[in-house]
This record gives sequence, C-alpha cells and structure tokens, in this order.
Amino acid sequence: MQIDPTFRAYVDHLDLNALTQSEDVVYVVDEQMNLKAYNPAWETFALNNNGASVLEKYPLGKSITAAFPEKIRTHYVNGYSQALKTGDRFDQDYECSSPNQYRLFHQIAYPLPAGRGLVITNHLVVTGEINRMKYAFGPKYRNADGFVVQCCHCRTVKNQADPERWDWVPSLVEHPDIKTLHSVCANCLDQYFPDLI
Ligand SMILES: [Zn+2]
Repeated sequence: MQIDPTFRAYVDHLDLNALTQSEDVVYVVDEQMNLKAYNPAWETFALNNNGASVLEKYPLGKSITAAFPEKIRTHYVNGYSQALKTGDRFDQDYECSSPNQYRLFHQIAYPLPAGRGLVITNHLVVTGEINRMKYAFGPKYRNADGFVVQCCHCRTVKNQADPERWDWVPSLVEHPDIKTLHSVCANCLDQYFPDLI
C-alpha cells in the first residue's frame, strides 16, 4: 500500500494489510480530494486498463477530481463532499468492461473519522459476455481535431458520423488511442447518473 507519510495517522486504524491484499481497487483521498494512498490493485488495474500514464498523471498528492469527465464530475464531487460532511457512505455503480468481458463495478466511498477523507473501494460485482456489436476502428471515430472520444465507464467510442451513436471498438479498449478524450456515453448517463439528466 502506497501511503503519503503525512496522511498515515488518518489511515492507521484501518486494516492496511487487508487493503494491500485486496483484489478491489482501493484508494484514499483527503478532504480536498487529493490522492493520499492506494493499494497494489490500483496499480495493477491502471497498468492493465489505461497504461502507465494513469500512474504518472495521478501520483500521491494529486487531486482526483480531474479524472472524472466534466459531465459527471459534479456528481462525484457532490457525492464525496456529502459523504465527508455527513459521515454517510457514497455508493455508485459503473460499467468498466474489458475487451472481452462485460464488467460492472460498485464503488463505495467510506468517510474517515472526523471527515478527514474517504476510503474509496471498487468491487467487481458482475461479469458476463459483451452483448454489443463489435466495430473495427476507422476514421469515423475521430473528431475534427483527430481525437477519439471514449466513454470513461463502458469504454464505447463516439461515432462522429452519427453523434448519437457510441460503438464498441474492442481494439480501442485493448490499446487506447494516444489521442483519446474521455466523456460519458448517453447509455451510461441514463443508467448510472439519472440525477444528471
Ligand atoms: Zn458508457
């Protein structure tokens, strides 16, 4: 478990051994939502899913709020703020499928005592087959500036020829394009963020 030494006192009461060994991605943020600790599963998940750049972009001390695309940022920031203020946990489902497997995760943000921060766990709750048409990558998935717009959750990509459409392009899940922007698709917004519609 990587822990910012200045924050250690606030997490010392946790079962750090269990968090270190957990297969769930677990990270800890302070009350300003700066990353203060994360477990090995976070590193593994980052390396397997988005490449090492995630680890470089989000070292200890960095605010995690920029990691959420603008469309859903307020949803998470409000949820986390509420949890810090009230001491009640924040729950959120989201899809994060791999190239060959549908995966649904459940996130829980548990407040630390005295609103010092949040322990955020991400548990894989459902796996299954991907029931989506598969598409090959092509020019229609790049916008006018040459970027691929990918849903940060289900990882479908926006079809620029038909902006209402988000397609499943497995090759882009396996190897994200170097010019990728993250957003949220209409389906994920509908299913997981009804408060934002
Ligand atoms: Zn989506």
